Amino acid sequence: MTNFDTLAARLAEIANLEICRNLPLAQYTTFRIGGPAALALFPRTAHAAQAALDTVCAAGVPYTVIGNGSNLLCADAGFTGAVLFTGKMKQFFFDGCTLTADSGASLTALALEAQRRGLDGLAFAYGIPGSVGGALRMNAGAYGGEMSGVVTSSLCYDSAAHTLKTVTDHAFAYRHSIYNDCPAAVALSVTMTLTPGDSADILARMQDYMQRRRDKQPLELPSAGSVFKRPVGYFAGKLIEDCGLKGTAIGGAQVSEKHAGFIVNRGGATADDVLRLIDHIRATVLHEYGVELECELVRLG
Ligand SMILES: Cc1cc2nc3c(=O)[nH]c(=O)nc-3n(C[C@H](O)[C@H](O)[C@H](O)COP(=O)(O)OP(=O)(O)OC[C@H]3O[C@@H](n4cnc5c(N)ncnc54)[C@H](O)[C@@H]3O)c2cc1C
Repeated sequence: MTNFDTLAARLAEIANLEICRNLPLAQYTTFRIGGPAALALFPRTAHAAQAALDTVCAAGVPYTVIGNGSNLLCADAGFTGAVLFTGKMKQFFFDGCTLTADSGASLTALALEAQRRGLDGLAFAYGIPGSVGGALRMNAGAYGGEMSGVVTSSLCYDSAAHTLKTVTDHAFAYRHSIYNDCPAAVALSVTMTLTPGDSADILARMQDYMQRRRDKQPLELPSAGSVFKRPVGYFAGKLIEDCGLKGTAIGGAQVSEKHAGFIVNRGGATADDVLRLIDHIRATVLHEYGVELECELVRLG
């Protein structure tokens, strides 16, 4: 059996790393769902992140990484390994049109700073509540833009292979990148190339996108965004609404009344409630329309 006390003592020797035992994941996800992580690691630098991952790997303890937890459904039982949180790694710098950001940097903060500098390309990302590392992995996108349009490289640490490499081919596809195929790979930083633009024009687009989000999405309740990927030729939300499922609830989980593509936590929802509701939605849509919905949100634990 893993001795977490011994492992925690080893990790405590690493500079710029905070460690917590039995941290409730619900507090670190936008869904507000999830049991405890046996070990939670909060590095402030890429170096500390690498050292922490190496130490955890050497102890044979499973690990995963969480950015802003905005695309996650964490198990009620939590995660019995180590969770590396990138939220304290959030430095970024501009060099002309090139933006390099630590993986925990907020996508919305980066979009705002780029706009302030008259740099275009990230307006689409304004309002996506993720970190740049999570957005890279998910190839997050909205309003005609996605990460694949701006990312030129990322610094990737693979603790299983002990390699630090610059990735330039991310095999981007719809809500997919090479990081989905390599669970051991952690993006430490992301480099993007933006284009000169007019600040006022970029701001106007960002405000328009934000207004559309407020009008259409249930931002007032905890969720993990769109639950399902867009099926070819359809919109998941419209299919679910057309099946009459808006407002359907299991336990504390409910198909949003505002946007049927979202499941909201209307208070006290468990991961099990969400999973049962997902099964019900998928079965109903398959039965009514013959369309198989695929989950966009990522399960942890
Ligand atoms: C209200 C709301 C609106 C949303 N709108 C959109 C939208 O318009 N478009 C869209 O695409 N998404 C949207 N999302 C979903 C989500 O915000 C995005 O997928 C976001 O990019 C996830 O980033 P994150 O940091 O929160 O990732 P997390 O949820 O923390 O993690 C997601 C996945 O990425 C992995 N990961 C995180 N960081 C790293 C890293 N550094 N290296 C490797 N893997 C990593 C995790 O292990 C996990 O598998 C929305 C969510 C909410 C709640």
